[in-house]
Amino acid sequence: LGGSISRALAQMSNATVIDEKVLNDCLNEISRALLQADVQFKMVRDMQTNIKRIVNLEALAAGTNKRRIMQQAVFTELCNMLDPGKPNFTPKKGKPSVVMFVGLQGSGKTTTCTKYAYYHQRKGFKPALVCADTFRAGAFDQLKQNATKAKIPFYGSYMESDPVKIAVEGVERFRQENCDLIIVDTSGRHKQEAALFEEMRQVSEATKPDLVIFVMDSSIGQAAFDQAQAFKQSVSVGAVIITKMDGHAKGGGALSAINAVEPGVTVFRTISFVVPLVCVCVTSVAATKSPVIFIGTGEHIDEFEVFDVKPFVSRLLGMGDWSGFMDKIHEVVPTDQQPELLQKLSEGSFTLRLMYEQFQNIMKMGPIGQVFSMLPGFSSELMPKGHEKESQAKIKRYMTMMDSMTDAELDSTNPKLMTESRIIRIARGSGRPVRDVMDMLEEYKRLAKIWGKMKGLKIPKKGEMSAL
Ligand code: GDP
Ligand code: MG
Repeated sequence: LGGSISRALAQMSNATVIDEKVLNDCLNEISRALLQADVQFKMVRDMQTNIKRIVNLEALAAGTNKRRIMQQAVFTELCNMLDPGKPNFTPKKGKPSVVMFVGLQGSGKTTTCTKYAYYHQRKGFKPALVCADTFRAGAFDQLKQNATKAKIPFYGSYMESDPVKIAVEGVERFRQENCDLIIVDTSGRHKQEAALFEEMRQVSEATKPDLVIFVMDSSIGQAAFDQAQAFKQSVSVGAVIITKMDGHAKGGGALSAINAVEPGVTVFRTISFVVPLVCVCVTSVAATKSPVIFIGTGEHIDEFEVFDVKPFVSRLLGMGDWSGFMDKIHEVVPTDQQPELLQKLSEGSFTLRLMYEQFQNIMKMGPIGQVFSMLPGFSSELMPKGHEKESQAKIKRYMTMMDSMTDAELDSTNPKLMTESRIIRIARGSGRPVRDVMDMLEEYKRLAKIWGKMKGLKIPKKGEMSAL
């Protein structure tokens, strides 16, 4: 499946003329992938029709770039498929909300409950966890352990076997304790069973949740639609969280690829390996008519990301998170410095000095650090999640070595300038082994390559269609 899409997309990307046939081939392949993941036929057909209409309409204007129009059309259509167009419930501080989690056993409910609680706790909420899973042995212990680690109050029982009773007691207790986000974890089964859905209905009826979150494992594949729909039919699912997105990173898969993708790379080369990922999201949104609100990206409590459709699709299509990036630039970079920064970006000339300056920003962890951590290359590889300390130490080391460089070296864009004798001099000057200097130069080359891709890129102004 992946192979055939890659081929079709590569052909499209390499084609000198984008004619009807090339476009059709490409659309057919994307559609086939979506259909195979059980996305409804009607949605896929609509997507095809819409893309074709946009492309044909726009192509009428002289001198337009078909490739770009196609990219824009795919972007818009994917966004539409991922956005059910219905506002989702968001808890408010100080006002008690009950949020119930449902999903099959092993989908990641208990882990995700804690992540969700922890996320809101850091935003100033007063969350609490209720374990209404009396089906699985050890369920309460697991929740207790998670909650204790995150310092979140919890409620559950080793003796009581009635999930409804526990759920009601827990919600009641935390209401009295003025918690504003009461999260009810429920049980699952390995399969979709009538007993499970009946239990969900009862817990839901008894606790009257403000929001029911359906948790789904992203590796579920074909069964996604049926499963999501089955839950939707028993309880009023209002939002979806997709877990184990990190699993796709294995073998050069989606998530690592998304992060490493460089802005300006055409959609056609990068969409191929992310199609399976888009499918899970599209499918669950279609089946539940609810938005995906977070994704789980690891087992750790903070491996949890807000899901925002536009930046997500933007990243999927290899366009970098331009919307978020530009918003940040306008928000935090002083107005008089904005043109210079944008100029440097579009020139694509990335010197060691520019790298040094960005490292300084990152070290300050000021807002500009945030800006650059959004750029592909600066975040995922240089500063992998969960290794912030190591990354900081590494950046400091790099900066020490760069302090031993001459102005000419810092301002050069010629990689040949860095001869062996210069490298040895820098190593001596900074008291670091030669190997470290080589490492630092490798990092520079990697970033310069990414930066180079931005050359000539039209950087959208605030408010413009941001992803392109
Ligand atoms: P539940 O049965 O639905 O409550 O699922 P659990 O929360 O017990 O999770 C099942 C397994 O999936 C556990 O080993 C979790 O650590 C793991 N898990 C949950 N979310 C993620 C995620 O986003 N990424 C990864 N890699 N593992 C996850
Ligand atoms: Mg559980």
